[in-house]
Amino acid sequence: MIEQLVALAKIADIDAEALRTETELRDIPARIEALQGDVKKLGELLAAEKAQLADADRLLSAQDEELSNQNQSLSKSKQKGARVRNTREADAVERELETIRRMMKERETEREALKDAIGKRRQSVEKHEKEFSELESYAATEKQKADLRLAELRTTLQAVLAGRAALIPKIPGDVMRRYDMIRSKRQGIGVAAIKDGTCGGCFVVLTPQQVIGISRAEEFAQCPRCQRILYSKEAIAKASANA
Ligand SMILES: [Zn+2]
Repeated sequence: MIEQLVALAKIADIDAEALRTETELRDIPARIEALQGDVKKLGELLAAEKAQLADADRLLSAQDEELSNQNQSLSKSKQKGARVRNTREADAVERELETIRRMMKERETEREALKDAIGKRRQSVEKHEKEFSELESYAATEKQKADLRLAELRTTLQAVLAGRAALIPKIPGDVMRRYDMIRSKRQGIGVAAIKDGTCGGCFVVLTPQQVIGISRAEEFAQCPRCQRILYSKEAIAKASANA
């Protein structure tokens, strides 16, 4: 009986390690996926910012062109001014020149503001490009590390489970089935060591008779609350020492 409990306790240790390994095997890819999602998101923001910068650059070229057109108009009006025949014509040309100069001044003010904004935006794009490439290389390094760790974990899991298979024949089939059923209902943990007269799994206080029975390891006792199969660490240590 005690040999069976010893084997079951070993299986429970193996299952706890397998559970930790499996959890890590699940968590690592999820973390890497989240990190790659961040890279993608940041890349999209950067692309949008670059597109805005390109729009602003195009707007600036359009303004440059407009300014050069206005400059041509200005020259034409000045040439016209040289050919005026009377005061009325001279006044008209003067008004025309004034209008063109005013429009050019407005355009130049706009252009300065736009150039200023473009300069700031370009700085921001450069900063974000640097941040993006840093995040990208961080994610790549993390992915490499994760792949190594995953390979390591898979090897560990194989070794751990190989030990488990060797122990199963030592335990009665019905006990093993009960154990697996409890495990499926109790976060993967099917056994619990008793501790100071309580169940180590759910901490319910056991009766003195239950504690004595478990310490003698005469049967597969279950916790009245969490149903886990209970054992005494001392009893198992003693049995292992005698084995
Ligand atoms: Zn319990």
